[in-house]
Parts: sequence; C-alpha cells; structure tokens
Amino acid sequence: MPSGISNIAYLGASALFILSLSGLSHPATAKRGNLLGIAGMAIAILTTVLAGSPDGVPIIIGAMVLGAAAGAMLARRVEMTQMPELVAVLHSFVGLAAVLVGYANYLDSHALSGAEKAIHEVETYLGILIGAVTFTGSVIAFLKLRGTLGGKPTLLPGRHMLNALALAACVVLGYQFLDAASAQDGLVPLGVMTVIALLVGAHLVAAIGGADMPVVVSMLNSYSGWAAAATGFMLGNDLLIITGALVGSSGAILSYIMCKAMNRKFLSVILGGFGATQAKGAATEQGEVLPVSSDEVSALLKDANEVIIVPGYGMAVAQAQGTISEIARRLRAQGINVRFGIHPVAGRLPGHMNVLLAEARVPYDIVLEMEEINDDFEHADVVLVVGANDIVNPGALEDPASPIAGMPVLEVWKARTVVVSKRSMAAGYAGVDNPLFYKENTRMWFGDAKGSVDALLRQLEEVPA
Ligand code: NDP
Repeated sequence: MPSGISNIAYLGASALFILSLSGLSHPATAKRGNLLGIAGMAIAILTTVLAGSPDGVPIIIGAMVLGAAAGAMLARRVEMTQMPELVAVLHSFVGLAAVLVGYANYLDSHALSGAEKAIHEVETYLGILIGAVTFTGSVIAFLKLRGTLGGKPTLLPGRHMLNALALAACVVLGYQFLDAASAQDGLVPLGVMTVIALLVGAHLVAAIGGADMPVVVSMLNSYSGWAAAATGFMLGNDLLIITGALVGSSGAILSYIMCKAMNRKFLSVILGGFGATQAKGAATEQGEVLPVSSDEVSALLKDANEVIIVPGYGMAVAQAQGTISEIARRLRAQGINVRFGIHPVAGRLPGHMNVLLAEARVPYDIVLEMEEINDDFEHADVVLVVGANDIVNPGALEDPASPIAGMPVLEVWKARTVVVSKRSMAAGYAGVDNPLFYKENTRMWFGDAKGSVDALLRQLEEVPA
C-alpha cells in the first residue's frame, strides 16, 4: 500500500479513536463511542496488514484468528464482576507485547548510525522498561482484584530506598546499553534492566493497599498506553504513537480524577504509600446491630417521600440492578422521589455502577454523582445501601487512623433511616470495619442482595403501582 494512503487511513483511525473517547464519556453516547472505536481499530488493523510485507500476511491472519477466538470465548465467559480482573490482564498483555516487540526490534538488524541509532536505542530501552513495569504490575493488580492476593499492602523494609536504587541501576544500565559495541553486548544490560523493571512493577503495586486500588487500575491503564506509544516510536508507527498517547493521557487524567475523589496524592499512591502513615484499620466497633426484614423495608419505603439508593460492589456481585431499577420505577410511580447516589470508586472499575444502572435502564437524570447528592442525605427519609461498604463508611471522616481516612464518602447516616443490604458483617474491599452498621438509625437487611430486593419487589407489588 502506498505510504500516502496508509497515512490518510491512520489519520482517519486516529480521528475515530478521539471521537470514540468523547462518546465513551457519557452513558447515553457510550454505545456510539464503542462503535466508532471498533471502526477505527478495523481501519488500523487492515492498513497495518496491507502496509507491511505480503510475506507476513498469513502469519498475521493466523495470529488474528487465534486472538479473536480467545477474545470471543473470554467475552462470553467473563462475568461483569470479573471485568476489573480482565482489564488488568489486558494491561499486562500490552506490557508484555512492548517487551517482546522491543527485544525483537533490537535484535533485528538496522542500518542506523550516529544520532539516529542512539534515538532508536533509547526508544527501545524505554519501551522495554515501561512494558516490563506494566506487565508485572498488572499481574499483581489482577491477583489483588481477583482476591488471590489480599488487599493489604506488602511493605518491604526500606522499600523507597529499593525503588530509588532500582531507578539508579536502570539509568546506569541504560548508559552501558547505549555504549555497547555490538547488539550482543547490549543484550546484557538490557536483560538485567528487564529483570529489575519486572521486580519494580510487582513491588510498586504490591505496596499499594486495597483502598487505593482504583488509582492503580487507572494508572496501569495509563502505563499500558505509554508502553504502546514507546512501541510506536520503536517501530516508526504513527498510529501506535497517537493511540498510545491517547490511552496514556486519558489514563493519567482518570488517575488524577480518582485521586481527587479519594483525597489522595497521586505521587504518594503510585510510589506505594510514600508519605502515608502506617495506618491501622479502625478498631472493631462494639454496638448493637438492628436487623430488618423485607416487609419492614417495604413499609419504610411506602411511608417515604425522599428515597436515595446507594449501590456498591455487592449489587454487581448479586446482579441485582434489574430488580432495583424496577423498584425505583414502582416507587416513582407512587409519587416518591427516588434518586441514586454514585461514589466515584464504587464497585471495582471506574464507572462500574453507572454501566450497571444504564444496562438496567435507570433514567440518567436520577443517577447523581457524590458531590451532587451528598448534601441531600439529611433530607432523605430512607437510604437503601445495596452491597456498598467502604464508600459509605463514616470512619473515613471520623477516624484519622483508618486506611481510608480522608476519602470523601456518601454521608448516608444523615438520613432518617439507612437500610444496608449485605450478607454478613464482613468488611469491604479495604478490609475496614464500618461504624455505620452500628448506628441507631441503621437497619441491617441481611441476605444476598438479589434475594432481598426480589422479596422487596414482591412486597411492593402488593400495592397497585
Ligand atoms: P466494598 O467492596 O467496600 O463492599 C461491598 C460489600 O458488598 C461487601 O461488604 C459485601 O458484604 C457486600 N456483598 C458482596 N456480595 C454481596 C451480595 N451477593 N449481596 C449483598 N451484598 C454483597 O464495595 P464498595 O462499592 O462500597 O467500595 C468499593 C471498594 O473497592 C473501595 O474500597 C474501592 O477503593 C475499591 N476498588 C474500587 C475500584 C474502582 O475502580 N471502582 C477498583 C479497585 C478497588 P458481605 O460479604 O457481608 O455481603
């Protein structure tokens, strides 16, 4: 394919990716955003295949068939609750690809010399470095999100010194790599740096506690973008540079937004709690727990004028969003003002709750962000907390020793009555006890959220809507 045509196709694909990102910023336009992204990717793949040497086409097609089959199988099998783990695995693939492409590119003979050769080697070195950190960091994030590794941070003694030493070693090895007389000689510093970068990636993410994991997910998303951009520089592929930069910068912006929402300092999170105190979880609150039945919840709701529903990770686990949407519809039909309050880190993915509620056809105008609804809890008659825990924990505001201290939360306890649907008194993702469960105006509605809300809907149906 002539380079002029491939450049135009790449430009078109880049424009489609930008439009896709803008579409994905709102649930109402997300579907269109996805379609534009798919179209951009189809153009990108086709152009890349046609622009390359025809000899490679059968191998590329074989790899694509294998990849598409694995992707289709995963997409069908993966539950919505496993999406965060899947995203982490996909980030690790981008990191691994950057490492492998980096080595392949380095070992491929290039007729470069002088400044051109130096620039190419710096690109290769940085691409492999970022890729290796992304790879192991994402694997650890995957294990943490899956629950195979606990949410507690692994804090090695002198960990900041270890990170600083690793960084210094990578700089020294980088000089040796650029100075190497032959590709064979360069492989030694490159290999040692790769091992160090793999260890640093695992160490950085292992040192981050459960409560800060949302930032890790978006940060690894950003790293995977920069790894792709570095690969683009290595291969001289403009589209990969643009796409990588889009993913890298949007991930960085998301990390910043998450940090702001959680009242955390970005640097302190990515350096594995640098500057953070060695906080302990709040002591277990002793107090009375007041259980409630579905009949009583139904009676509370029927008497209410203002109801706010706060969904959390447990709603996703129970797949209760459809019934909750129907409950909201029924209550609204009876003249009750029902709204949803969404915390920015609810669930296990940015926007997790918004996606589930959109899927369950909850109208967007009654789904409000934390800062839009937090002042309204004091006027609510009933707050229905469905499978949420950390995001409604008053300890974040009241207990400076809590691992989630300082994180803004939905102040549900200000309502007249709070009903919490969960299965037990177990802690949430951050592993912290929740004083909300012992408050006088809190009622614990024990049981699987889907079973509970199904029973509630049946109760509500006894009154004509
Ligand atoms: P939490 O994990 O704090 O709490 C969820 C609660 O749901 C649990 O306490 C659990 O209690 C309950 N639950 C689980 N399954 C069910 C079920 N089937 N029926 C009823 N209840 C159930 O979730 P939140 O949404 O409140 O907070 C999100 C947490 O995840 C925060 O700590 C956040 O930092 C972290 N995180 C968020 C990410 C993001 O991007 N949004 C990414 C990574 C981490 P029980 O077992 O008793 O039922």
